[in-house]
Amino acid sequence: MRLSRYFLPVLREDPKEAEIASHRLMLRTGMIRQEAAGIYSWLPLGFRVLKKIENIVRREQERAGSIEMLMPTIQPAELWKRSGRYDDYGKEMLRIADRKEHELLYGPTNEEMITDIVARFVQSYKQLPLNLFHIQWKFRDEIRPRFGVMRGREFLMKDGYSFDLTREDGEHAYNKMFVSYLRTFAAMGLKAIPMRAETGPIGGNLSHEFLILADTGESQVYFDAAFHEKDWSTFELDYDDREAVAAVVREFTSMYAATEEMHDPERFEREVPEGRRVSGRGIEVGHIFFFGEKYSRPLGAKVLGPDGNEHYLQCGSYGIGVSRLVGAIIEAGHDENGIIWPAPVAPFHVGLINLRQGDDATDAACERLYEQLSNAGLEVLYDDTGERAGEKFARMDLIGLPWQVIIGPRNVKDGMAEIKDRATGARENVPLEFVASVMTERLAAVLS
Ligand code: ATP
Ligand code: MG
Repeated sequence: MRLSRYFLPVLREDPKEAEIASHRLMLRTGMIRQEAAGIYSWLPLGFRVLKKIENIVRREQERAGSIEMLMPTIQPAELWKRSGRYDDYGKEMLRIADRKEHELLYGPTNEEMITDIVARFVQSYKQLPLNLFHIQWKFRDEIRPRFGVMRGREFLMKDGYSFDLTREDGEHAYNKMFVSYLRTFAAMGLKAIPMRAETGPIGGNLSHEFLILADTGESQVYFDAAFHEKDWSTFELDYDDREAVAAVVREFTSMYAATEEMHDPERFEREVPEGRRVSGRGIEVGHIFFFGEKYSRPLGAKVLGPDGNEHYLQCGSYGIGVSRLVGAIIEAGHDENGIIWPAPVAPFHVGLINLRQGDDATDAACERLYEQLSNAGLEVLYDDTGERAGEKFARMDLIGLPWQVIIGPRNVKDGMAEIKDRATGARENVPLEFVASVMTERLAAVLS
């Protein structure tokens, strides 16, 4: 992408309304624009990150055997009356009436709708197990929308739902999602610690929240420092191997980790040696529940079992805050100069900086590199504007692409490009003809 033809409305000043780094940086870099409290437009740069996160979530859901579909944002109130949640949800639910005075609502979650779909089409245990997900906008009329996309009112969520015949099968479905969440967040460069959680308005009896540590997080968390030493690199396993999947869950739940609501100070002291007791703040990026028959009963989702009897389905639901993750990743990765994107979610991989736009030799070298890098499959943002070098450097640091390739007249004369690593600040000189292969290797190393 040529910056001269792109839409990147970077702000000169820090926006005053932003209380935390991610909100400030997302506004500053022109990733989002607020339309109303907790409601945002995703401008091109922000949209690219959102899509990258969505794609990682999708890939890991599919790998774990979940099937993608799409349900609408608008739901009939009648479904929610059947489950009893229409009243329970209170003012957080945005209630709407259409021209025929039918009661509708903007979905805050989809347990009712998906259970109703499954009740309609699944009649036999032979159609199980079933795990379905969608990535769709939700609306919750939060009392205090704040921190930009971290606590929005309209936000993008991946929500998935599992349906099984027996409790044992349901727990296996839960465990698969548990492991897939570890993989999903790790693939974005995050360590999300699973913590035993309360089940809240969704209800149920088995639940974990996944939190990443950040000073600006809204949750108080307590955990064993042993989590810091864990190997978070992705787990290769066969999702159908129940014992292997359960072993990972056991490993990650054997160490103490709890949010405020579930924290037990006595147990913390008993189980965790003093030097390893950590408390801090965390951001909830995912939440999984197993709740058995909570919705399958009121919505009549039952199947004929192998014993010839009817059984209510054993269900779970699994959420990931896709849009919240954009902010959370920035909270976990930024410095005084701006954002530092992990390569897998970066809006572009490389920022190509032309230090002397209009100088024929420099322009030609940049054009060649732009083409070579793009042909090698790298996503390049080419700063071909006529602005001063200082402004280009500052803007490139601000938007935080993992690598910068810097070309000025002197580089061209020496036949060398300067490559800067945004995270470490390290600079090195690479012969112009090797830039594309060097960058391809670097990218492959961090994406694998
Ligand atoms: P919170 O405790 O932060 O209000 P929640 O427990 O109500 O969240 P869930 O119902 O578990 O949320 O939703 C699944 C995921 O959706 C959460 O883990 C979170 O990442 C994301 N999420 C929930 N509410 C919001 C919001 N208002 N803005 C952005 N993301 C949200
Ligand atoms: Mg939650």
